[in-house]
Amino acid sequence: MLDKIFHDHRVIERLRTNFLGSCLDDLSARLATHEYSTAVIQPYTCAGGHFAHWMESRRIPLTTINESTIDLFVQRHLPNCRCAVPQGGAAHQVHAALGHLLTVLCEHQLIPPERVKEKSPTDAVIEVFNAHLLQVRGITIGTAREYSRVVQKLLQSRYGDGDVDLRLLTAIDLMDFVANQPQRCKQNITCAVRSFVRFVQLQGFCNAQLVSAVPRVPFRKLSQLPNI
Ligand SMILES: [Zn+2]
Repeated sequence: MLDKIFHDHRVIERLRTNFLGSCLDDLSARLATHEYSTAVIQPYTCAGGHFAHWMESRRIPLTTINESTIDLFVQRHLPNCRCAVPQGGAAHQVHAALGHLLTVLCEHQLIPPERVKEKSPTDAVIEVFNAHLLQVRGITIGTAREYSRVVQKLLQSRYGDGDVDLRLLTAIDLMDFVANQPQRCKQNITCAVRSFVRFVQLQGFCNAQLVSAVPRVPFRKLSQLPNI
């Protein structure tokens, strides 16, 4: 399968010779079966190769891999990665790719089925966004949870259960979403959406113009006080 996805024989050789080689072939095949495009299969497979490279360098036994290993890789290793192999895309893409890899490892009976928890593409984005809020923005756990809940609704309304391509997020999507929220919640919702779009910008999927498209809601706390 790798022959159909990559044209550079050096890339194919590198992926085939790492210790998850045959699994990466099957990862590509699984993604093709699920009708992912080559533009997605390529970085996802490279993410699998990067993960295998990291495991090998850390001497992490294959039999111990689970969701926590993936979280460790995405949240701790990726931001500081100095590996001489392709990273495999932005953090949320790597996270989604490795979810598929876990399924493949399970099909190869290399890890037990209970280690695999199928996550939706939206879940993968939310996990990385939540980690970004806590670790980069330094906001409280409660606020991060609230922002993530809002963004989950936004992504669900935009992408449903399908693949989440953040490059397709438009100003109209954001304005429609905010406009359809209850007035009393709009202050918090615009903060959450604005924060998410800045995160998307940091990942390189949009420019600053999309951030400015998020409607501003005036803070009305004083004006809501009754006249006396
Ligand atoms: Zn790395």
